[in-house]
Amino acid sequence: MTLLELTSLRKQYGPVAALDGVDLSVPAGSRTAIVGPSGCGKTTLLRLVAGFDAPDGGRIVFGGQVLADGATQVPAHKRGIGIVAQDGCLFPHLTIAQNIGFGLDAEASVKAGRIDELMDMAGLDRAMLARRPDQLSGGQQQRVALARALARKPRLMLLDEPFSALDTGLRAATRKAVTDVLTAAGITTLLVTHDQGEALAFADQVAVMRAGKFAQIGSPREVYSRPVDSTTAAFLGEAIVLPATVAEGRADSPLGALPVDDTAYRGRAEIMLRPEQISVTRQEGSGGTPGTIAEINFCGPTSDVRITLGGEQAFSFRLDIPSREPLLPGDRVTIGVAGTAHVFR
Ligand code: ATP
Repeated sequence: MTLLELTSLRKQYGPVAALDGVDLSVPAGSRTAIVGPSGCGKTTLLRLVAGFDAPDGGRIVFGGQVLADGATQVPAHKRGIGIVAQDGCLFPHLTIAQNIGFGLDAEASVKAGRIDELMDMAGLDRAMLARRPDQLSGGQQQRVALARALARKPRLMLLDEPFSALDTGLRAATRKAVTDVLTAAGITTLLVTHDQGEALAFADQVAVMRAGKFAQIGSPREVYSRPVDSTTAAFLGEAIVLPATVAEGRADSPLGALPVDDTAYRGRAEIMLRPEQISVTRQEGSGGTPGTIAEINFCGPTSDVRITLGGEQAFSFRLDIPSREPLLPGDRVTIGVAGTAHVFR
């Protein structure tokens, strides 16, 4: 069942088409991530869904009800949609209890009980209830913002880069905690992020946005392994793009003959491999393609290398490889490939 349906959604800011005809179906109970470079329209999309802005065209339908179209604009507080923004947006002069209870219409004792419940749900110690937001860590503040957004029992939660202000370790832990809370509560979630790793890890549906439109919508594995074009591929992670001639499910490429995912295609095409499909070893003649390390930059667990392949047309490509063995510029290596290559049609 679809909970949220966006159809031909448009938003214009002067000459900028922030949203240029967006279609999106969000299944009930799903976690959808909207990912894309800065300025592509992600926040604009959330603001329209939340009801902070009205679209210039198109339609938003939520749970069968039209929230916005040419004739209708349901106000934000009547939509039953929660939102957690990048900095949490807590009221600085209110205590944590007052922040969470804000907008909860209930008798004091019922309200206190509900606030306790929300604190537990968000994994926060009740001892923090009397503190003000500036007496909490960034991760704790984000959990309070989540608890506040959950207080009204929304059917849809919008998360606008809620983890981006947190440092790496805390970010992963907070993301996990927030995801667990939303899953346990069965709340459909729309996450906006410019972090592709976060989108792939969080979502069951990833929508890749570029210049006010969706370039691709699919499962994390689908958008990662079968991106629509090389720009989308590069946005979702490191991509090794090679020229090839494709026929009968095989590509003739600088890395040898490789099986491809598109058995129907025939002709010249660019093909893509992800770095985890490629092995680089010092042994020679072990059945792969010979190459030479042209550059290497040690980055801890991985090293960024540029490899040159011999042959008539020298071809070089970059990738991150596990720093298993020390390699130096000039070292001769063998490149092996596992799995199938993706064809860009
Ligand atoms: P970021 O990842 O940097 O937050 P974003 O993908 O969320 O970016 P938006 O904030 O939706 O992008 O902005 C989309 C485009 O619309 C940008 O070009 C932005 O400059 C423009 N824009 C957004 N809000 C306004 C506004 N209120 N007035 C004018 N232009 C705006």
